[in-house]
Amino acid sequence: MARPIQAHIDLSALESNLQVARRATSARIMSVIKADGYGHGLLRVTEALAATDGYALLDIQDAIRLREAGFRQTILLLEGFFSAEELPVIAEYDLTCVIHSAAQIAMLDACQKNGKLDVWLKVNTGMNRLGFVPPQVAQAMDQLRRHRAVRDITLMTHFANADQERGIAEPLALFNDVATPYRVARSLANSAALLRYPETHGDWARPGIMLYGASPFAGVSAQQLGLKPAMTLSSRIIAIQELRAGDEVGYGALFRAGHAMRIGVVACGYADGYPRIAMNAPVLVDGQRSRTLGRVSMDMLYVDLSALPQAEVGSRVVLWGEGMPIEEVARTAGTISYELMCALTARVPIKL
Ligand SMILES: *Cc1c(COP(=O)(O)O)cnc(C)c1O
Repeated sequence: MARPIQAHIDLSALESNLQVARRATSARIMSVIKADGYGHGLLRVTEALAATDGYALLDIQDAIRLREAGFRQTILLLEGFFSAEELPVIAEYDLTCVIHSAAQIAMLDACQKNGKLDVWLKVNTGMNRLGFVPPQVAQAMDQLRRHRAVRDITLMTHFANADQERGIAEPLALFNDVATPYRVARSLANSAALLRYPETHGDWARPGIMLYGASPFAGVSAQQLGLKPAMTLSSRIIAIQELRAGDEVGYGALFRAGHAMRIGVVACGYADGYPRIAMNAPVLVDGQRSRTLGRVSMDMLYVDLSALPQAEVGSRVVLWGEGMPIEEVARTAGTISYELMCALTARVPIKL
């Protein structure tokens, strides 16, 4: 018997979540599959989302893998290119590039042998991560429209607060203002904006997290949004300890039993991607809710079995996914579902 941890990737959940996105908008869908499909596995995610109109990711090698696997949709490089040497390859594989800086336009100029490229010009509407600030957009647009290496231009931006109270009003107004003179396609919405702000849908929406079945909003569950978790991380109890009052648990003795109780030791630790910092994180043991206790170690963590007298060695423990929203686990670790999904490590066997 192998170590009992596994991550089940539910391909039908991905398909179904894509349908949720489709029903929410008439825009084309650019499925965001960066970071190895948010930790779910690049090619299996790409296949499960084959009904999408495009894929967005970062790594040119990953983009080439998709083309070589036969995917014909638009493939968008979210950070564009990093040097002029990449341009011929980008043209050869018909990849679409975000252009976010004057340095990239200079690289376009420098490359003599590139074919025609489709580009997405990125506008910085306040996030101050990538993109041209509004006063620079007209010049960048002019340069790209005149450029012999450029075929089609889309205007895009990205919201910093679409999931927050602040919302999108300010950046949306800035974007619409700079985009008004141009008859080009537009792309603005991440999952949160797609679900909450139809006025941001434009021509291409760019959902990520919702496709994997997690909610982009702190106060709304994935279930309420009709989303199904695509990743379920589970393992089993491999040992049981009967504690007496005063007994301590784990590194740093962070938990001390106030009375006699039973705890289970689960084969899942931070080397599997479970956050070490999570405390009193919710888990399911044989389908019943319980909590972790003590400090997560490299390969194991502890769960409270006080209220679960039937639990035994071999009991199944769901760390997140089906029946255990990943957002709740993330909250106890002071982070978001995205980080937990991406942090799943290579040693965890994947089951489809
Ligand atoms: C990651 C990303 C998205 C998707 O965001 P979600 O919150 O996962 O929906 C969309 N656009 C850009 C530019 C991104 O970097």
